[in-house]
Amino acid sequence: MFGKGSKLYSMFGMKCPKCHETDLFVNKNPFQIKGFFDMPNECPVCHQKFLIEPGFYYGSMYVSYAVCVAYMVAVFVAFSVLYPSFSLELYLIVGIGSMVALTPYIFKLCRAIWINFFVDFDPPQKN
Ligand SMILES: [Zn+2]
Repeated sequence: MFGKGSKLYSMFGMKCPKCHETDLFVNKNPFQIKGFFDMPNECPVCHQKFLIEPGFYYGSMYVSYAVCVAYMVAVFVAFSVLYPSFSLELYLIVGIGSMVALTPYIFKLCRAIWINFFVDFDPPQKN
């Protein structure tokens, strides 16, 4: 289910949502500032546009909200299982602190998830 052809592959691998062959971002390392926002205009393999319309990625903020809520729930569950006597302060410090550290990754992940809502896997036919 994580292989090529599944949406999860495109989302978490940050690949072109249509052919899954090329990278959505010019710079794959989310923790490198240079070229952070750079995405190719279109996929060099299948010519899917990555900026489908102006402001397309504003919608990824809704995804970002859902991902952040899910992340905080996951941290809460992890604490409940691994360290049940945790305090609320510790939970907030670890949860929010680690989420802030992961923000560059979450930002790119949300764009990859967002474009996958609109573009399905449809690889170009090979002859
Ligand atoms: Zn493509």
